[in-house]
Amino acid sequence: MNKIEHIGIAVKDLAKANELFALIFGKPHYKVEEVISEGVKTSFFEVGPNKIELLEGTNENSPISKFIEKKGEGIHHIAFAVDNILAEVERLKNEGFIVLNEIPKKGADNKLVVFIHPKSTNGVLIELCQDAS
Ligand code: ZN
Repeated sequence: MNKIEHIGIAVKDLAKANELFALIFGKPHYKVEEVISEGVKTSFFEVGPNKIELLEGTNENSPISKFIEKKGEGIHHIAFAVDNILAEVERLKNEGFIVLNEIPKKGADNKLVVFIHPKSTNGVLIELCQDAS
């Protein structure tokens, strides 16, 4: 893995959270994107070299809505940039980690993404992401 690509934060109300985090970071988000297949609406902030993703569930079956129901708002995942997502999936599977989707999905921000189950990672949902283009 190369670096932290972004940190994902689950929020109940994206519009309100955008205002709050704009106050924290001293600048507004630079984009909003809906990933219909995942039932999420996202926004992204740039903080120096780092990115923060806010996620709101768009329906009650959305993984974000379920997460908030169980744990409340807060840090949802940490995403790491990888060069070869299929090779990383293979490697982590062989190490015994639980891969949630072995076939990379199209995520926000033009990325191919795979999630590693928090059960196998000390409670941290890990997202691998590779540039889709
Ligand atoms: Zn993410």
